[in-house]
Amino acid sequence: MTTLQAGGLCQRIGGRTVLDEVSLSVGPGEILGLIGPNGAGKSTLVRALLGQSRPDRGAVLLGGQPVRSLSARACARQIAYVPQRPPDGFPVTVFDTCLLGRTPYMGTRPRAGDIAVVESVLDRLDLAGLAFRTMDALSGGERQRVMLARALAQQTPLIVLDEPTSALDIGNQLATLRLLADEVRVRGVGVIVAIHDLSLAARFSTRIALLHEGRLVAEGPWKTALTPQTIRQTYGVEAEIGQLRDAPVIAPFEVRA
Ligand code: ADP
Ligand code: MG
Repeated sequence: MTTLQAGGLCQRIGGRTVLDEVSLSVGPGEILGLIGPNGAGKSTLVRALLGQSRPDRGAVLLGGQPVRSLSARACARQIAYVPQRPPDGFPVTVFDTCLLGRTPYMGTRPRAGDIAVVESVLDRLDLAGLAFRTMDALSGGERQRVMLARALAQQTPLIVLDEPTSALDIGNQLATLRLLADEVRVRGVGVIVAIHDLSLAARFSTRIALLHEGRLVAEGPWKTALTPQTIRQTYGVEAEIGQLRDAPVIAPFEVRA
């Protein structure tokens, strides 16, 4: 299985420091919850981890190799990516969109095995009924779940998701996190998920990375990374942290003046 490691990432965009000495890693069997306010640098970090951008300093290693030295195909066999904004509707069917997840393995055309993988993922995500609908005829939440399906069809050892639940109702949010937890448990994948819901993040992540103004201000088990102090420091919010049925509940109460 593959490990993704980032060391000392620094990036300036438009004269501002957006990533400041960020180091983290994720390996098999782990879910790293990437948390932080709007503009903290989560998506910028994700793009650097995927080799889509070149940080000013620092390195990203995928399976021990610099991620930017790998071909797009080699990279796509190791990491699947669910972007923050699914492409706005385009007239491609849900089925063909998921089939794109198989391109790192395909020659000029899909084989029976590729079709079978897509069918099984669509069934698993309860999307089979939409298979021949085009993406431009879906709701935002449906499109987001198709992007997740495409990532699962890629069958990679690592999955990086940028706010995959932002357009989902509470049932689908929970189902998405459960599905990721299953992938981790059953297939031993490693997951990095940027997410705003602190309760879900705490409940499902094996570790939390809390990003603020481009810096990693806390990293570790949720109980140490997400405290009233770190939440106040990063979000400027007074939060209460409790437990219901053994699951952490983190409730924001007041915005500090
Ligand atoms: P997050 O995903 O945590 O909300 P981003 O990584 O998208 O944050 O953005 C981090 C910061 O970098 C923000 O202040 C954003 O405005 C800025 N930024 C990101 N991309 C660009 C860009 N292409 N040009 C200028 N500023 C950018
Ligand atoms: Mg973002």
